[in-house]
Amino acid sequence: MNNGYEIKGCNECLQYIAYGTLPETRDLLSEIKQVWPGQDITIHVGSTEEYEFSHEPCQCCGSMLGGDRHQMFVTQGDVGMKMPKKK
Ligand SMILES: [Zn+2]
Repeated sequence: MNNGYEIKGCNECLQYIAYGTLPETRDLLSEIKQVWPGQDITIHVGSTEEYEFSHEPCQCCGSMLGGDRHQMFVTQGDVGMKMPKKK
């Protein structure tokens, strides 16, 4: 199975990708599209466990807000975001 490459995403990206919950205070989808313009990718959540605290920008949406970063994987292919397959 191709797991793609690993990125670290913020909590709001995790909430969206894992549970489909979008924050009310920002346009997360537009921000993600700006990070991945025109790219045919799928972002998967690797682990919903707390990953690490970081002040690095979120690699999924580009947010500069410091906070927890979670493991995610980017694969080429389908448009949009999908939940990881249940084990
Ligand atoms: Zn993010």
